[in-house]
Amino acid sequence: MASEPRPRNIVIVGGGIIGCTCSYFLTRHPSFDPSIHKITIIEATAIASGASGKAGGLLALWAYPANIVKLSYQLHAELAQKHDGAKRWGYRAVHCGSLRAKGRIFGDADGKTVGNNGEEWKKLPKTDNKKAKSIAAGIPKDLDWFDAEAVKGYSEMGTPSTTAQVHPYQFTTSMADLAKEAGAKIILGSVTAVDSFGDGVKGVTYEDKDTKHIHTLPATDVILAAGPWTSHVYPEAPIEAMRAHSVVIKADVTPYAVFSEIDLPKDFGRTGGGDVKKKRHGLSVSPEMYARPDGTVYACGEGDTLIPLPKTSDLVVCDEDRCQDIIDYCVSISTPMREGDVLARQACYLPSVAGGGGPLIGETGTKGLFMATGHTCWGIQNSCATGKLISEFVFDGKAKSAKIDSLDPRRFL
Ligand SMILES: Cc1cc2nc3c(=O)[nH]c(=O)nc-3n(C[C@H](O)[C@H](O)[C@H](O)COP(=O)(O)OP(=O)(O)OC[C@H]3O[C@@H](n4cnc5c(N)ncnc54)[C@H](O)[C@@H]3O)c2cc1C
Repeated sequence: MASEPRPRNIVIVGGGIIGCTCSYFLTRHPSFDPSIHKITIIEATAIASGASGKAGGLLALWAYPANIVKLSYQLHAELAQKHDGAKRWGYRAVHCGSLRAKGRIFGDADGKTVGNNGEEWKKLPKTDNKKAKSIAAGIPKDLDWFDAEAVKGYSEMGTPSTTAQVHPYQFTTSMADLAKEAGAKIILGSVTAVDSFGDGVKGVTYEDKDTKHIHTLPATDVILAAGPWTSHVYPEAPIEAMRAHSVVIKADVTPYAVFSEIDLPKDFGRTGGGDVKKKRHGLSVSPEMYARPDGTVYACGEGDTLIPLPKTSDLVVCDEDRCQDIIDYCVSISTPMREGDVLARQACYLPSVAGGGGPLIGETGTKGLFMATGHTCWGIQNSCATGKLISEFVFDGKAKSAKIDSLDPRRFL
């Protein structure tokens, strides 16, 4: 005879895409019973205020790690179908390719010679262009938002049957809303400690965002999903943070996600403000550009570790010059982007596992304490599998939908 289900008080630390998909899948697990199971997200600043609200949103069957990618890609498609994701969070299939181009000089920099201190572009580890399988050559006719004179070549990396996208902010907030509709609760506050008793978790201590009062919340299960901040909450977590800048430009263009390799002219300088300053980079730069269904293009730049992760996401420093670099590089090869208004200039921190590997999904060695973090460049893509697997760890005692021994946090702690 099956044992009586026991009351559970499940606390999720962090309201980024990982915390929100965990709460969604917990509320959809067949064993979830809102009369005896409480689910609470504690979020320090605002839902999706970190990388989950500022990422590109690319989903790909060719992402990594292989043991969760397919599951997550399929779950994204199912969620979009079930909740009208096309309308609600901009889900759609896209083409994806790598574009080689030669940048041209426009605007203030025209005709002026500037220095170049030649730093190499620090790529986010989403693809290794050399390893990416080129499955076709030639420039597709409908990829018409790059200037013909600038384009030197194109290699297809993914088709609409292997590549898709979401708007990460809209997806994350929708997951939180759907979990709330099913009974989950959201508290705004910073978790300062995970409390344990013997070999098991007992609860969390947090500071309320508005009142600054300290509270303790008893818990049978705690899920650490604070992205790059996970090691602030749980110092044993081997999680590192890398800052990255991005911009959003108004430009209604065809559905492609483009990984660029742009050669800049020798005398290429920074535009804006009338001054032409020294460029930071060498002669080759690689911004990623993703067309979105809302008539915008999202573009992101390289990573840097110049400013350590601040205490909360609202204190992240956005360097306007780094944003302007991304804009200058994109507009040097695209007329629609050159003509479009810049709608957002932003920065956020990418969470990664020290020494490589990850993400870390599963038990920690302390009973009832789980980890779901370190998703590097593929946290949007891998969010659904992470949420589903965490719901299985909590209610079934083990991961059932994928074999994820290699992601066991205990191997890294
Ligand atoms: C420029 C860029 C582009 C990217 N593009 C893509 C892409 O195209 N596709 C893709 O799959 N992935 C992409 N990623 C990766 C993806 O954004 C991340 O892997 C993912 O957002 C991580 O989500 P998270 O929930 O773990 O962390 P976060 O989004 O950082 O969320 C953590 C949350 O925890 C909260 N928090 C922190 N401390 C506490 C505390 N003490 N108490 C309570 N709450 C706390 C924070 O406020 C935050 O809201 C990109 C990343 C970057 C930087």
